Amino acid sequence: QGEHTVSITVVGASGDLAKKKIFPALFALFYEDWLPEHFTIFGYARSKMSDEELRNMISMTLTCRIDQRANCSEKMDQFLKRCFYQSGQYNSEEGFCELDRKLTEKEAGKLPNRLFYLSIPPNIFVDVVRSASRTASLPSGGGWTRFIVEKPFGRDSESSGELTRSLKMYLEEEQIFRIDHYLGKELVENLSVLRFSNLVFQPLWSRDYIRNVQLIFSEDFGTEGRGGYFDNYGIIRDIMQNHLLQILALFAMETPVSLAAEDIRNEKVKVLRSMRKLKVEDVVVGQYKGHTRGEKSFPAYVDDPTVPNDSVTPTFAAAALFIDNARWDGVPFLMKAGKALHTRRAEIRVQFRRVPGNLYRGSVGADLDMATNELVLRVQPDEAIYLKINNKVPGLGMRLDSGNLNLFYSERYQREIPDAYERLLLDAMEGERRLFIRSDELDAAWAIFTPVLRELEDKRVAPELYPYGSRGPVGAHYLAANYNVRWGDISSDGS
Ligand code: NAP
Repeated sequence: QGEHTVSITVVGASGDLAKKKIFPALFALFYEDWLPEHFTIFGYARSKMSDEELRNMISMTLTCRIDQRANCSEKMDQFLKRCFYQSGQYNSEEGFCELDRKLTEKEAGKLPNRLFYLSIPPNIFVDVVRSASRTASLPSGGGWTRFIVEKPFGRDSESSGELTRSLKMYLEEEQIFRIDHYLGKELVENLSVLRFSNLVFQPLWSRDYIRNVQLIFSEDFGTEGRGGYFDNYGIIRDIMQNHLLQILALFAMETPVSLAAEDIRNEKVKVLRSMRKLKVEDVVVGQYKGHTRGEKSFPAYVDDPTVPNDSVTPTFAAAALFIDNARWDGVPFLMKAGKALHTRRAEIRVQFRRVPGNLYRGSVGADLDMATNELVLRVQPDEAIYLKINNKVPGLGMRLDSGNLNLFYSERYQREIPDAYERLLLDAMEGERRLFIRSDELDAAWAIFTPVLRELEDKRVAPELYPYGSRGPVGAHYLAANYNVRWGDISSDGS
């Protein structure tokens, strides 16, 4: 057969994620000519909308990159003309049959391929997969039909296993693209490049030289009226079990046989399966409380009208994790994630061991901290990589100072960094599974966190309250201190 065509259906097109991320990412791909020549985009949801109304809704959120303002509105018009809408229920086949009819019409004469993006609440994932796969999947032997599934993938080992089993009743594993948008972030992709293509780092990447690794995520806002979903999950499930653990796996895995998706995912599963189940004494949970600063007052988590007044759901957590293998034996991997903190940031910090028998230990300014190198990968905002080194302060005396070797992306690369959703959508269309989560990876990830989540919930462990906009509960410092660690974002440069 001749030419190919790809149809992308965004299920839940009227929702927040579709508007904020998916349609803008599709437009950015179109703008840069990454989409195939023949493509069609469909929105699907229950809301009643005409094609024109969908186009109006989408057009509100489309933007062009700073360096590509030329013919921006022309490009937008071209893009919007390829967007259509089908309204329908999620649990009945009627709407999807109609969608199938329209897709077939658009695909006329070309080799069709179909991508469904499930941007809907988790309770209807299976309904949609059942209806869409029965009515709007392509027959095998033709083009491909793929489904991108958004988190949450269950809320513990059991429900995640149940979800996987249900999805596999209708789909093959290679049709399921479980998205974790952190894996599409530039710095996270670069982690492997940094590790495996720089001789200076490769030999240092083990317990012999690394004292601890920190994975830090903070947001400077709370749930702000969208706490309904969050309250059922909490920060451990929302950020740690997926985003931070995925980064940890990439950081700590052994060298894969190749860059092929299955080779990388095999190594990630191995390292996840070598991890100890997290214990309750290695976790600190917190929840933000309201307070007033000057004229301004900040709400507590439980002030959110969508959250129950007596909720003990953590909006902050810190945890110490361990990998029981030869490379990482005894090295604490500390995670910290929280909402309503003083800053918005995601970073990976690697603290190296002290220099044995350091000649300069008696020099002015050479306290213990200074003797320790630290490598920081700032994932967001302002992507950067920097390495803290000890350096002589210029002058006649011998005074040491801690300086940074910096690679700031905004200085080095004068280009906007694509959004994570752009890369992941493109990969899904190209059948590149490297940055998507395989079901055995997901099982291994849940096995680490499920026992502690259950214990926290069964005992209704009260979170330590911290003021909105603060640095989080002090408990996080005690947890780190148990392992002789200081959080790098607070104790060293704090920048
Ligand atoms: P959303 O706005 O709450 O829902 C998307 C659409 O689903 C809605 O427009 C609505 O469309 C339909 N819907 C909502 N509640 C429903 C219900 N109870 N029963 C049936 N249909 C319902 O969700 P979202 O924030 O876009 O997120 C979509 C998915 O992405 C979720 O799985 C979420 O966990 C995940 N996610 C979201 C974000 C984010 O930033 N928002 C980030 C990461 C992951 P109709 O009423 O028109 O049918």
